Parts: sequence; C-alpha cells; structure tokens
Amino acid sequence: MKVELENLFSIDESSQEQVIKVYNRYGICIGAPEIRKKNLKASFNPIFTLNENITYEHVAALYKSLERELGIVSIGERFYFDFSESEYEQAPLFTLNSTGNSPDMFIEDRGTLFSISTYCQHCGLLEKEQLSPLVIDTTKMRDRHLVHVSGYWVASQELVTLMKRENIRGYDLLEVIHQGPEEGKQQVFQIIPTQVLPECSTERVKLYFATEQPPCRCGLSGVINGPDSYKYENLTNLTGDIFFSAEWSHDGRYLYRKTLFSRKFRELVIKNNISREVKGEKDTNFGPMDWLFDPVLLK
Ligand SMILES: [Zn+2]
Repeated sequence: MKVELENLFSIDESSQEQVIKVYNRYGICIGAPEIRKKNLKASFNPIFTLNENITYEHVAALYKSLERELGIVSIGERFYFDFSESEYEQAPLFTLNSTGNSPDMFIEDRGTLFSISTYCQHCGLLEKEQLSPLVIDTTKMRDRHLVHVSGYWVASQELVTLMKRENIRGYDLLEVIHQGPEEGKQQVFQIIPTQVLPECSTERVKLYFATEQPPCRCGLSGVINGPDSYKYENLTNLTGDIFFSAEWSHDGRYLYRKTLFSRKFRELVIKNNISREVKGEKDTNFGPMDWLFDPVLLK
C-alpha cells in the first residue's frame, strides 16, 4: 500500500518554475504538473508518494517554505491509498468506501429517532443510538442497490434477494420507513451486521492535515485513518460476510461504525454487474454507479 498526497492550490503562472524548485529542493520530484487555467491564476495539483524519505513532517516543512518564499498559504490536501495487486488478492475483507462516485449514493435521513449524547467534550463529536427504523424518501434510491444514510447502508429489494440466494451471512435486515411521494416508492432494507470485528492492528497508518488544527485528544477529529489493518491471526476464524469495525469512524459530527464485507460479497457485486471492479479512487472504472472497496491489510 502506498500513501499518496495531493496538494491543491492556485498560483500565478509566472511562479510555476519557482514552485517546482521548492518541491525539488525537498526531494519531491513533481515534474510538470497539470495546469488548469482559472482566470489569471493557474491551479497546481502535484501528487506524490509518502515514504520513509518523504514523510509527512517533511511535507509540513515544505509548506512553510512555500509560504515564506512564495506567499502560498492555503494548500488543500487529499490523501490516496494505493493498493497493490497482491493486497487485493490476499484480503479476506474489504471496506466499502463508496457505492458510486456521485452525491446520489447518499440519501438524507427524514426523521429517524436517535438518542444523542456527547462523545468528546473537546471537539464536540456526538454518539448516536438508533431508536427507530431509518426514515428516508425511498424514491430517491431509483436504480441504486446500496445507498448510505447517515452512517448506515440501505439495500434494494433486489440486492437483498441476491444476498439471500448467494448465502451471504452475518446481518439482520430492518425495513426502512418510506416518507415521500407514493409513486416510485420502494421496499428497502437497512443492513445491520451482527458481528463486530476484532480491533485493528496498532500498525495502522494514521495521518493528519498539517494545514489544519492538530488532531483532537480523543484520537478521532483531525485524524485520517489509513486502510483498515488487521493481524492475520485475528481474521482466520471469522465466519460470515458482513461485519462492523470495532473502531469508531465519524462524519465530522456523528460517530458511526464502518461496515466491512467479505471477498465473496465483493465478487458477487462484480459478477452480477451491480458494479464494475474498481481499484482505488483514481481508477477510471470508478463511475457514478461503481462501488469502491478497499482491501484490508494483513499485518
Ligand atoms: Zn475529540
């Protein structure tokens, strides 16, 4: 697995060469990045790999130089995790990060009952417990098979039928309450994993944004977790196909547990043309209806 970092900022086109020189001085070879003209400014999006020579601390120092020498202050950052072929081949489980490169994979909650409590007083993250079935406008599912509703996965009737036929195990279904127009409404189901995975390996990569506030002491806000990593021996005796992670994730406001799926589930989705096979966010196969599964790493 490779960690790549993308920087995003705008500069005057005339200072392009100088910017490249600063990167090169820090040992980061970015060559000639793609320049997209916007008004008189050019946007600059170099992507490079982090490793033992180019650490994130190194990059933080680079940002200071860009600021001091060229006055570049607002640098956007985006991390990518790039997996090798063998990591895809060996993973028994996959984290489902997306069911489409489109905002339509998210459906708004329309009044599910939750009990909400404060998880962290410092950053204000909230914990919520679901007290009623999810409430959504199911007409918004249209021809999607799996959508994300505030931290939960909701499956179409067709996907549920397929999962039963293929003997996918380890979940309960809770029918979603429809709220919205009658025409085009669907019977859809929240997937609730019945098992929680063992804890992730302590070797899991953790990153933070140098350009933002330092991570909160709760270890959640401001931390970008790398791919889910497990000790090999912790996964050998698993049975079933759908699991909650032991660790919390959050959407900036609420905590939720990620859902992980078995290799069998991923293959079923691809074999039945629900999604094309996607390997990483930058894969050209990652379209509005394609599912992004990242392999878990074994340590
Ligand atoms: Zn916190």
